[in-house]
Amino acid sequence: MGRVEQRKMNYDLLLLRFGEFTLKGKNRARFEKAVLRHVRALLQAFPKAVIQREFGRLYIVLNGESGEEMIKVLQKVFGITSISPVKLAKLDVEDIASKAVALMQELDLPEGATFKVNARRVWKEFPHSSHELNHLVGAPVLRSCSGLKVNVREPDVELRLEVREQGAYLFCEVIPAAGGYPLGTNGKAMLLLSGGIDSPVAAWSAMRRGLEVECVHFYSYPYTSERAKEKVIDLAKVLSGYAGHIRLHLVPFTEVQTAFTQTRQENLIITLMRRAMLRIATRLAEKEGALALVTGDSLGQVASQTLQSMNVIGRATNLPLLRPLVMMDKNDIIDKAKDIGTYDLSILPYEDCCTLFIPKSPATNPNLWVVEKIEASLRELPTLIDEAVAKTETITLKPGKAVKGLDDQTINEDWF
Ligand code: ATP
Ligand code: MG
Repeated sequence: MGRVEQRKMNYDLLLLRFGEFTLKGKNRARFEKAVLRHVRALLQAFPKAVIQREFGRLYIVLNGESGEEMIKVLQKVFGITSISPVKLAKLDVEDIASKAVALMQELDLPEGATFKVNARRVWKEFPHSSHELNHLVGAPVLRSCSGLKVNVREPDVELRLEVREQGAYLFCEVIPAAGGYPLGTNGKAMLLLSGGIDSPVAAWSAMRRGLEVECVHFYSYPYTSERAKEKVIDLAKVLSGYAGHIRLHLVPFTEVQTAFTQTRQENLIITLMRRAMLRIATRLAEKEGALALVTGDSLGQVASQTLQSMNVIGRATNLPLLRPLVMMDKNDIIDKAKDIGTYDLSILPYEDCCTLFIPKSPATNPNLWVVEKIEASLRELPTLIDEAVAKTETITLKPGKAVKGLDDQTINEDWF
């Protein structure tokens, strides 16, 4: 956002633009409604703000609320591609010109910077054409801002003016927002959330495609500490900033894990654990009406993410297994994690149940037949999986706080 963060903004409204889904004819109304619900929920923190709807856009009248703060929050809303802070003028050329001059002066542009005015007369009864308006506004700006020059081809700043029946809107900044599809408009998925760098980024990517995400985390007391679980809760809280709220299923995994360690099949232990995780996540997905599983796997990253491992592990579920990061480089994943605000938490050094049991040489090419044989020899495995599902604890997280045992109804009413 650069410039916007650095200076005090003196704007009247925010213009929010919808993204790619506006192209999808019959779904458009549903998608716009989903964005509106999400925005409305977030604006509870800005009680004086008022939302105005318009075809393909939303306007937020600030009424004295902080534009900078609001932009930070609204940039996280999927389905919004960009935000422009807008200055409002009366439908009067003099007022438009003086507001335009004020806006350009507030930008504090360097000597020699170039600009052009791009006027649009949406309300056709306004007495001046777009072409006339470009001149009527451009001339006083040039006179009042010494050092500014006009460049109609490649200006540093494009001062846009839209004349509408309710007033004249002036803006020049287009601040990028999250984009993608509005939350939940493409169904629900169950995401396996570890404490690492990858899975929170996978969660964000899935949400950005319009998936509602519920998270499942496997912990192994006493091998993993309370702090490790808290770290995952904190990660889910950050993710809830993009969703309004996030449900997190905490699965006790110690018994299942211990059963595997007793098989003494060291090299296959990660493969066996991952398959058990997928089985449990599938059961939870079915219970919660989620139609896919999501993981933070990235091809070749570790032994369990070779193509052969992914193949053997993935066969433990019948649900589509989505791996949004599968083709991404670690550096790009790290950049994204920093962007979305999960990186600093992810690198805190708390143990994960899998990393604790990493054998010296984990199988990179596990054999499905052998793996299935070992599982079949563990007679108690189905019962242990049933018990893990039964003992799963679910919490609902909102940005900044954890709410134990809060039912969906309360959350939904509160947020949407
Ligand atoms: P990250 O843990 O963020 O994925 P990583 O490179 O450490 O990074 P792995 O540990 O190999 O990845 O795990 C691969 C995927 O398996 C994770 O992205 C996550 O989706 C899932 N996973 C691993 N451990 C757990 C866990 N304890 N609970 C839930 N999911 C897990
Ligand atoms: Mg991990």
